Amino acid sequence: MSKLDNELTGPRVYVAVGGKGQKLHLTGGYSKPNISKAMCGTGLETRTIVDARDIAPRDGYQDSKLWCLRCINLLAYEALDQIILFSSIFMEKIGTYGDLVVIPHLERPSKHKKHPFKLTAAPEKSEWRLHGE
Ligand SMILES: [Zn+2]
Repeated sequence: MSKLDNELTGPRVYVAVGGKGQKLHLTGGYSKPNISKAMCGTGLETRTIVDARDIAPRDGYQDSKLWCLRCINLLAYEALDQIILFSSIFMEKIGTYGDLVVIPHLERPSKHKKHPFKLTAAPEKSEWRLHGE
C-alpha cells in the first residue's frame, strides 16, 4: 500500500471492454492516470473504457475468469473506494475479492495500530461547502 497518496479515496478505476473473447482489463487509478494502457501493460487501442461502477458490481460479471487477473492483482494498490467496487468478483476455491482484499484492508488499522490508514491532508475549510458561506 506504500505507493498510495491516500488509501481510502483515490482516482477512479476504469474497465476496458471489447475485443473478441478478451479479458476485462483495468486502467486509471493511481497506476494509469492517463488511461493509455491497462494496469497490466496491455494496450487498449481498440477497447471501450467504462466506469467500473457500470460493470464490476453488476450481476453477470462476478466470475473471475472474465477478468485479467494481473490487473485484479494490481488493483490492491488502488484506493479502497475503487477496490470495493470489485468486491463481488469470485475466485474459485479462494473466495471473493472482498474476502481476499477488502476485509483485510479494513481490519489492518485495528490489528496493526502503528499503521493507520494513509490519508491526504484535509481541505481548507473554505472548500468544504458546495453552497453557502
Ligand atoms: Zn490486464
